[in-house]
Amino acid sequence: MTELNRSTKTLSRRAFLQGVLGVGASTLLVSYPVLAEEAKSFPIQKTAAEWKQQLTSAQYAVLREHDTERPNTSPFLHEKRAGIFHCAGCNNELYDIATKFESGTGWPSFYQALDGAVGTQSDRSWFVTRTEVHCADCGGHLGHIFDDGPAPTGKRHCINGVALTFQPKAA
Ligand SMILES: [Zn+2]
Repeated sequence: MTELNRSTKTLSRRAFLQGVLGVGASTLLVSYPVLAEEAKSFPIQKTAAEWKQQLTSAQYAVLREHDTERPNTSPFLHEKRAGIFHCAGCNNELYDIATKFESGTGWPSFYQALDGAVGTQSDRSWFVTRTEVHCADCGGHLGHIFDDGPAPTGKRHCINGVALTFQPKAA
């Protein structure tokens, strides 16, 4: 990892913690997420070098290294057209914009994924246990799921916009 990547990661994690926990998080920084089932196998398998060639550095950091983008940076926060969000790694269809809602967190938020589109695992980083959510096809990290979402599911899929692409529905 380069020093540049390291400082970018640290900055985004700090912003994430301040946003979510409302604390000055610099004393809480730890190196890497602790994931329960890191070595799951997915239909789409690529080497780190292959992913690096295909993805931007920001996409790679989130999808493959579980980084978190800085809040309020995703243009998808303001996306209003009808359409489907896809995985930026493998183009799997993940979320219909009809299930997107304004969470006020600074990350694109959805109350439901498309059927079978995502998988979850327990993420024990940051001294709390959260539900990590990833693309079911390539395993790319998308974000986390919380239990404070709106009806009908009560779930909030807090997703890094950089892990998504958007395809508007043809008029
Ligand atoms: Zn994917």
